Amino acid sequence: MSVDLHSNYVMTIGGRSVAGGATIDVVNPATGEVFAQAPDCTKAQLDEAVATAKAAFKSWRAVPIEQRQAAVRKAGDILLAHADELARLFTREQGRPVDAAKQEIQGAAMWLHAVAAMSPPTHVVEDSPQQFIETRYVPLGVICAIAPWNFPVTLAMWKVAPALVAGNTMVLKPSPFTPLCTLKIGELFRDVFPPGVLNIISGGDELGPMMTSHPGFAKISFTGSTATGKRVMESAAKDLKRVTLELGGNDAAIVLPDVDLDDVAQKIFFGAFFNTAQICVATKRLYVHESVYDGLRDRLLAIAGAVKVGDGTEQGAVLGPIQNKRQYDRVMNLLEDAKANKLTLLQGAGVPEKGYFIPVTIVDNPPEESRVVQEEAFGPILPMLKFKDIDDVIDRANASDYGLAGAVWSKDVTKAMEIARRMETGTVWVNQNLQLRPDTPFAGHKQSGFGVENGMEGLLEYMVPQAVYVARA
Ligand code: NAD
Repeated sequence: MSVDLHSNYVMTIGGRSVAGGATIDVVNPATGEVFAQAPDCTKAQLDEAVATAKAAFKSWRAVPIEQRQAAVRKAGDILLAHADELARLFTREQGRPVDAAKQEIQGAAMWLHAVAAMSPPTHVVEDSPQQFIETRYVPLGVICAIAPWNFPVTLAMWKVAPALVAGNTMVLKPSPFTPLCTLKIGELFRDVFPPGVLNIISGGDELGPMMTSHPGFAKISFTGSTATGKRVMESAAKDLKRVTLELGGNDAAIVLPDVDLDDVAQKIFFGAFFNTAQICVATKRLYVHESVYDGLRDRLLAIAGAVKVGDGTEQGAVLGPIQNKRQYDRVMNLLEDAKANKLTLLQGAGVPEKGYFIPVTIVDNPPEESRVVQEEAFGPILPMLKFKDIDDVIDRANASDYGLAGAVWSKDVTKAMEIARRMETGTVWVNQNLQLRPDTPFAGHKQSGFGVENGMEGLLEYMVPQAVYVARA
C-alpha cells in the first residue's frame, strides 16, 4: 500500500480512513509553529471504533496464533521499510534529531519482531485416567491503548504487539502532541491486520477520559504521567476494566568513588539527557561520592558545552527541543524555582531562541528537599548531589514515591550489584543505563506503575487464564 506520509492525516477505523469531527493543530516544537492538522475524534466515531473492534475480536481470537504472530512480524517489516520517511515526520512532530528518530522506528520494528516470536504457555495440571486439567490463556477483548509523546512510536508498539499476538483487538490513541506517525502507521498496517483489529484514533484532551470511561473496553493499557494514571485507574474501576499503567519516574543513579570518570561521564550524560531528558527511565537524580563529585561535574559540563542543541533537522544537532509548550512551561517553572531558591545552575551550550529549547542544566548539589530533586523534571535539568555513606545514599535514592529504574556505577561489580538489589525500582542497571528489552519485564514499583509491560509477564497481561476440566470415563 502506498501512503503519503507527509499530508492528509486520517484515523483508521474498521480498516477505513476517517476524518475527525474537527481537527487539532500539530506543532513543530523546534519552531513553535503549527505545521499539520490531525483528526479530532467524535464520541460517535469512538463508539464506531469500539464496535468494529468488538466485531473483529470474534474472528481475530479464532485466527491461529501463528498467523497472528506472522501479521505482527509483517507489521515490523513495514515499519523498517518506511523507517527513513517516518523518521523525518517523527522529527517534525516530536523534535528529536533524525538519526535518533530513525533508531526509534527501527527499535519499534525490532519489538514487533521479538514479540511475534512469543507464545503464551499452556500448563497441564493433571492428565490421569480420571480427568484432564489444563490452564491456558485466552485474550481479553477490546484493548484501550493510550500513549505519551516522548517515545510515541515505540511505546505504542509495546502495546500493539502483545495485545494482537494474544488475540485481542485494539483502539489506540497517540498523544495529542504527537499523533502523526501513529496515524500513518495505522494506514500502513491496513494491509496486515483485518479491518477492525487495530483502530487508531486521535483527538484533544477530552478523548482520553472518553475512552477510559467507555464500557466497551476490556482493558486499558496506559503510558503517561502518574497523575493521569491515577485518573485512568479511577475511571477503569467503574466496570472493573483491567489496567496496565506505565507511569513516571524520578530515577536515581549512584556513582561510587572507584569509577573511571573519563569512561563513565559520556554514558552518564546521555543516560540523563538523551531525548532532551524526556525519558521515563532517564537519570533524574545523580548521587555522586564526594571524592569524585567535582571531577564528574566538570566532565559533564564539558560535554554539555560541546553538545549541539537545535532543530532536529539540522546537521549536527544532538538534542532537540522540549516536545511541547505545556512541558516547556513546566520545566521553566522548575528552573525559576531553582533560581528563586538561589541554587547553583551550570548550563551547557546556548540554544535557539525560537521553539521550545532549554539549555542542558546541571544543578550543583542542591538541598535534598528542593523541588528539582523531589519532582520528575522530564526536561534537561539534572540535580547532582554529594554523598559520603552508602546506606545513607540508598535511603535517599529510595525516598521517593516513584520506583521506575535506577543505576549504580562502579568498577566493583559485586558491590554495585549489592547496592542495585537494594534499590526499590522495577529496573536497575549496573554500569549502563536506558537498556530495555522485549523479553524482559518492565514494571514500575510504587507509584511508577501498576502491572507489567514486556517479557512473558507483559504478554500475559493481555490475557486471562482459563482452567479447563475434562472428566474421563
Ligand atoms: P500524560 O499523562 O499527560 O499523557 C499521556 C496520555 O494520556 C496522552 O495520550 C494524553 O492525551 C492521555 N490523557 C491525558 N489525560 C487523560 C485522562 N484523564 N484519561 C485518559 N487519558 C488521558 O503524559 P505525557 O506528558 O504524555 O508523558 C510524560 C509522562 O509519561 C512522564 O511522567 C513520563 O515519566 C511518563 N512515561 C512513562 C513511561 C513508562 O513506561 N513508565 C514511558 C514514557 C513516559
